Amino acid sequence: MIECNNICKTYVNGDVETNAVSGITFRIDKGDFVAIIGPSGSGKSTLMHILGALDTPTSGTYLLDGQDVSKLDDDQLSDLRRNKIGFVFQAFNLLPRTTVLRNVMLPLLYSDTTEKERDQKARKSLEYAGMEEGKFMNLSNQLSGGQMQRVAIARALINDPAIILADEPTGNLDTKTSRIVMETFQELNRRGHTIILITHEPEVALYANRVITVRDGVIEKDVKNVR
Ligand code: ADP
Ligand code: MG
Repeated sequence: MIECNNICKTYVNGDVETNAVSGITFRIDKGDFVAIIGPSGSGKSTLMHILGALDTPTSGTYLLDGQDVSKLDDDQLSDLRRNKIGFVFQAFNLLPRTTVLRNVMLPLLYSDTTEKERDQKARKSLEYAGMEEGKFMNLSNQLSGGQMQRVAIARALINDPAIILADEPTGNLDTKTSRIVMETFQELNRRGHTIILITHEPEVALYANRVITVRDGVIEKDVKNVR
């Protein structure tokens, strides 16, 4: 499903060049649950931006379902993101003073759907992400961290993406809440979603069934069948 061949990413700021990713090669099959782990600054977020078609590599190829993502223009990249990928971030990125339901509907706002369809899809997505119905009309800033992350997961699921990309999704959560969120990802994986999780916490990585360790922009270890 995902095939990266010698992916490199160099950031240039003035005359400073940073090699954030320096030659990464791997493939990820449909239905995998992969954790990418490594210390701060090792290139994890850069890699996630490339895998999520938010950015293109400086060199190397990235094939997603056989399509060469590195050759797509901005419009094609945004179509691909909308159709295939759901994102979950550390900071939740919810609209404050906006209901849970509206936050989840947001990605559909400019799609060809009626308000009623959006409402139904959002409710389904929230249920799927394990959010209790009594909270659907709460404002997002009136929720606990764990509830906010569930809303963000529901929003990521609204288009039924084949791939869920999560960058440090437990970074702002306590241990108990992290466990609940990670169990939610495991459940989504059991239901067939491919999950790529980025973390710097080894305990969190153990919820995946494959752990790729990156350091200084290269793969240091790739361990399958962790569970
Ligand atoms: P991680 O997510 O593992 O902490 P990042 O991918 O964010 O690592 O960063 C990898 C390296 O690339 C770091 O040295 C970081 O400072 C640098 N970097 C990341 N984004 C940019 C950018 N937009 N411009 C310049 N350097 C960047
Ligand atoms: Mg990061």
